[in-house]
Amino acid sequence: MPKHKIGINTICTHIGEIKDEQFKGAVSPIYVSSSYEFMDTETKRYPRYFNTPNQEHLAKKIAALEHAESALIFGSGMAAISTTLLTFLKSGDHIVLQQDLYGGTRNLIEEQFDNYNISYSFVKGFDIQNFEAEIQSNTKLIYIETPSNPLLKIIDINAIAELAKSKDIVSVIDNTFASPVVQNPIDFGIDIVLHSATKYFSGHSDICAGAVTSSQHNIDLIWRLAKDLGGSLSDFTVWMLERSMKTLAIRVKAQQRNALKLAKYLNKSEYVAKVYYPGLKSHENHKLAKHQMNGFGAMLSFELKPNLDASQFLKSLKLIKPSMSLAGLESTMLLPTETSHALLTQEERKNQGINDNLIRFSVGIEEEKDLINDIEQAIKYIK
Ligand code: PLP
Repeated sequence: MPKHKIGINTICTHIGEIKDEQFKGAVSPIYVSSSYEFMDTETKRYPRYFNTPNQEHLAKKIAALEHAESALIFGSGMAAISTTLLTFLKSGDHIVLQQDLYGGTRNLIEEQFDNYNISYSFVKGFDIQNFEAEIQSNTKLIYIETPSNPLLKIIDINAIAELAKSKDIVSVIDNTFASPVVQNPIDFGIDIVLHSATKYFSGHSDICAGAVTSSQHNIDLIWRLAKDLGGSLSDFTVWMLERSMKTLAIRVKAQQRNALKLAKYLNKSEYVAKVYYPGLKSHENHKLAKHQMNGFGAMLSFELKPNLDASQFLKSLKLIKPSMSLAGLESTMLLPTETSHALLTQEERKNQGINDNLIRFSVGIEEEKDLINDIEQAIKYIK
């Protein structure tokens, strides 16, 4: 590759390709061996050691996309998250986390961490002072997700990274919602970037995978636990993921173009009470989003007016699918009160600003006018 900084579509298409020296095929061959010739204890290859040819090569693409030195690919986003957290947290340690995290991560903390004698504080608020106030002498890790789910709040990534550095704490971000096309937290000083690769990396709603990127030093530490916990991804799926990631940047850019148009459309609709999208000038953190994001991503949320039944609205859609997951190239919507935030009490949801008419919208690549038509026909049906 040339020495100049290569563009994101070139990274997506070419970095980490395995050259087919034998037959000169255009795409990476799949190496499915679970047994490789023993060379020495340092270099032995094995799928659970995260170092088969397909795993090693695709990890290079993921690291390049996140401007990181190194990466590991896991069998799910949660495998990447749990392995990373347990690498840096030991019995007696404390972790500071943003309040509204992905439910699975929150569940891992609340259900499991007591068993490991790891204490935790969820931060109420999104300002740096709110995070600082929760730091204790035994705090070892700060964990954020921005934009947040489902209200698309924005946290100052650089301020978090600086705070963590000043206290010798490891900073970690789940960058799933944005994707590396839209946000590169390592450029803002964050130590470790996590992904549910099930989402934008896959993009076609047919792969479950995860990834972590960081310095080589941190990845070596994570690898030591990763090989013991055993959450590697099969080489068939790694190969599928490489195929998907070739179009990551063009997909996400098309999705976020649509998202901005849909956010503007919903913002003007007489049936919508509020739109949450960092690309709107009215968004409370629009300036910060502009500073730390490259575009504003393809996730948004909106509240229907109180006289409209949001559940009925979702059932009346014909093109947009009601779906738990996100980031596929097909548009999906869900009600956080019935899905991701169903386990919270009404009071807890109210405190987080999540009401019964809030709809989370993962915007896909369909034509803007078709998405708008679908929303309009569903509203006509329920009003
Ligand atoms: N992080 C975020 C933001 C997610 O939305 C999800 C899944 O929905 C995860 C992590 C967990 O990823 P996975 O389902 O691949 O384990």
